[in-house]
Amino acid sequence: MLRSLFLYLARAGWAKGMIMRIGLARRTAHRFVAGDTLEEAIAATRQLNNHGLEVTLDHLGESVSDEAGAIQATQDYLELLDAIAESGIRATASLKLTQLGLDIRKDLCVDNVHKILKKAKATGNHITIDMESSDYTDVTLDVYRKLRDEHSFDNVGIVIQAYLYRSESDMKALAAEGAFVRLCKGAYKEPPDRAFPDKADVDANFVHLVEQFLNPEACAAGAYLGIATHDEKMIDASIAHVKQHNVPYENFEFQMLYGIRSRLQQQLHDDGYKVRVYVPYGTQWYPYFMRRLAERPANIIFFISNFFRR
Ligand SMILES: Cc1cc2nc3c(=O)[nH]c(=O)nc-3n(C[C@H](O)[C@H](O)[C@H](O)COP(=O)(O)OP(=O)(O)OC[C@H]3O[C@@H](n4cnc5c(N)ncnc54)[C@H](O)[C@@H]3O)c2cc1C
Repeated sequence: MLRSLFLYLARAGWAKGMIMRIGLARRTAHRFVAGDTLEEAIAATRQLNNHGLEVTLDHLGESVSDEAGAIQATQDYLELLDAIAESGIRATASLKLTQLGLDIRKDLCVDNVHKILKKAKATGNHITIDMESSDYTDVTLDVYRKLRDEHSFDNVGIVIQAYLYRSESDMKALAAEGAFVRLCKGAYKEPPDRAFPDKADVDANFVHLVEQFLNPEACAAGAYLGIATHDEKMIDASIAHVKQHNVPYENFEFQMLYGIRSRLQQQLHDDGYKVRVYVPYGTQWYPYFMRRLAERPANIIFFISNFFRR
């Protein structure tokens, strides 16, 4: 029930202003967010790089409803890519299509992501398109394939969510296409006719999708999997599959979120696996923070108990 409440709050405009004004919310959010500015994001990235960890940077923002906002977000990503190149940090970038105008006009969004991919290509970088709620799955895959196939960008990847029933067939197609995929469990509130309601089923599907995707034909075709989870059961099952089937290390990496299970991130790196940390930054932390609270009751209890202790 708490998960549903916080996922509802993530989308509730009336709650956003109120909660963002609470100093404690801001301080707690900064456990998961590298800072408000690009400079802070670069500093956090440098620190992670120094520990051998790769990074993908997310300039926070989503559900942008005005064209000027989508153009500004595009500009912010172009600056981010320049800053990555100039600072010498090791980082790719991740973005959300609703930040870049998808809710306004699809062609505006395609145009904006095109500009970002062009800059990424010129600076030797890679972009992953995050997956939002299931209302956007088809159009997100469509934009991804349009940019990859019609515009010939080979530096773009996509996220697939294990909680959706459709993901098995999406993953099968993407594996055959030799795609770059980040697999996660899924962070939005979804109806039971689209997503597994039970966590055990989501977990089982996650493992199934890793095993299905990392097959010899897909690996030979260049398919690449970002195994994005903090769940040791998912990680152990993935490692077992990789070892049993001699999956080349060039075909996968582990990915985790900034501020979550940092010791596990380091442990996996020390064990010889490539690990990428998803580092969000910027002032639009509200929905991202609400989803992180929703994921773990302990986060909510920590936040609420500190709120009343003030
Ligand atoms: C790199 C990356 C990119 C992502 N991109 C997307 C995306 O594009 N679209 C999307 O829908 N979702 C995305 N997610 C979020 C994902 O869908 C899950 O909601 C999130 O990762 C939690 O699931 P889990 O696999 O860690 O497993 P869980 O079973 O939720 O958690 C396993 C363990 O991890 C730890 N943990 C998990 N979450 C938290 C938290 N918030 N705070 C503290 N500890 C925690 C706890 O110890 C928990 O027991 C992404 C996740 C990662 C790691």
